Amino acid sequence: MSVVSAEGVTFDAGIPLLIVGAGASGLVAALAARDAGVECVVLERDLVPSGSTALSSGMIPACETRIQHDKSVSDSVQVMAADIFKKARGEADPSMIDVMCRASGPAIDWLTATHGLDLTLVEGFLYPGHSQLRMHAPPSRSGADLMGGLVRAAENAGVDVLCGAHVTKIYADDTARIKGVKITRPDATTELIGCSALILACNGFGGNPDMLRKYIPDMQDALYFGHPGNQGDAINWGQSLGGATRHLGAYQGHGSVAHPHGILISWALMMEGGIQVNCDGVRFSNELDGYSEQARRVLSQAEGLAWNLFDGRLRDLVVGFEDFKQAEANGAVLKASSIDELGAKIKVPIAELRATLEKIRHLITAREKDEFGRDFSVNPTLKPPFYAVKVTGSLFHTQGGLKVDSSARVLTANGQSLPNLFASGGAACGVSGPEDWGYLSGNGLLSAIALGRIAGQSAAKLVGAN
Ligand SMILES: Cc1cc2nc3c(=O)[nH]c(=O)nc-3n(C[C@H](O)[C@H](O)[C@H](O)COP(=O)(O)OP(=O)(O)OC[C@H]3O[C@@H](n4cnc5c(N)ncnc54)[C@H](O)[C@@H]3O)c2cc1C
Repeated sequence: MSVVSAEGVTFDAGIPLLIVGAGASGLVAALAARDAGVECVVLERDLVPSGSTALSSGMIPACETRIQHDKSVSDSVQVMAADIFKKARGEADPSMIDVMCRASGPAIDWLTATHGLDLTLVEGFLYPGHSQLRMHAPPSRSGADLMGGLVRAAENAGVDVLCGAHVTKIYADDTARIKGVKITRPDATTELIGCSALILACNGFGGNPDMLRKYIPDMQDALYFGHPGNQGDAINWGQSLGGATRHLGAYQGHGSVAHPHGILISWALMMEGGIQVNCDGVRFSNELDGYSEQARRVLSQAEGLAWNLFDGRLRDLVVGFEDFKQAEANGAVLKASSIDELGAKIKVPIAELRATLEKIRHLITAREKDEFGRDFSVNPTLKPPFYAVKVTGSLFHTQGGLKVDSSARVLTANGQSLPNLFASGGAACGVSGPEDWGYLSGNGLLSAIALGRIAGQSAAKLVGAN
């Protein structure tokens, strides 16, 4: 993956706008560009577009949407921005938070009203750190269905998505203006395509062990749960062109992936009263801090494992989620009618487990917080039948990336924008601060959808002006 001089290069074809990557970010950018009347092609290395987007739960945070309005949810750009800023402990760029929050509602309204996406408000629980119901997702809560909706919308809008088109080189002149790209096809043949502007929507570097070792050594051996094709190309190309990067140590982890089944178990279980214990039957953290930072905490327990414990009331809450159905079908969810049976089934010391559950009962009655700061008084006591899932911590996606401005243009270290390069989604620096604890649920698709639309609109404007 390299950037080379465009001098003397003849391109086989020319397209005004090229977009690298057909995940949520690339497809949304393409829809926005098409709506602005600009011809564009999305170049996707896989034979079928999926990306991390298809692996996700498809939950897109957005405020002031028509869907929220219909449900009488009172939310605003300021409230959403404050939630993101607080989770990132003030270490994310407030102006980019504002840009993304401001763009989030109009993007959801546009995707549903203009492009026919079926999105509903996720109700029944709040994700950690969100003060309002603002997750919009396909009814199945499945990222594959979100991708299905976006691919259909792209087809209907006349967007060309070229699959099996791995972008392996970028050609630029000596002012860092992109002139075109090389694509390598599955049969190793290559084509050169010229362009007037380029959007990098090819996510971060979760699939690149060397970059993980360099930037996020703590997670280099963790299970990577994202798309393997995300190799950090955007960051490497951007850097070669003089683009600045930020927060390359930031990532979204997840402390609740069923082991060994590799199925995501919704954090809603924790938010509504579930707990995690280690192999000694002991809790080790405040589960409500967030699922991202919980990945490292689970990985630091014996064998890098923990048990999610919950009851029938909580199972009812998530039983409609596609992931949970799969987990049950694959035998990842154990059921027990008593603490003794639970302890025996999950092979943890029964006395310790009993003490853990007794302590929670006491905290609820006494209305006291535990030693980690968790307030149990807001949820009922766990009651039989109990359920348990063995989980591990994993890396979902990286959150650092190319520094962009409010038009999604890639910036240099001295704050100048590169002539015709844009980045969005996981290719751009997110709004989660420098580490794992700053990720507010949905920050990933927020950047893919809100910034993706901005990138498409801005690139279309630039290309239109050429
Ligand atoms: C299990 C899981 C659950 C998640 N759940 C949520 C959630 O509910 N809400 C949320 O907000 N976020 C969630 N996320 C994060 C979210 O999925 C990502 O932030 C988001 O999908 C990023 O979108 P993207 O378009 O930037 O990248 P992707 O969807 O990964 O798309 C990038 C595309 O670029 C292609 N590509 C890469 N390099 C090249 C190249 N050189 N040439 C051509 N193509 C290339 C890849 O093949 C890929 O198709 C989750 C992540 C995981 C792993």
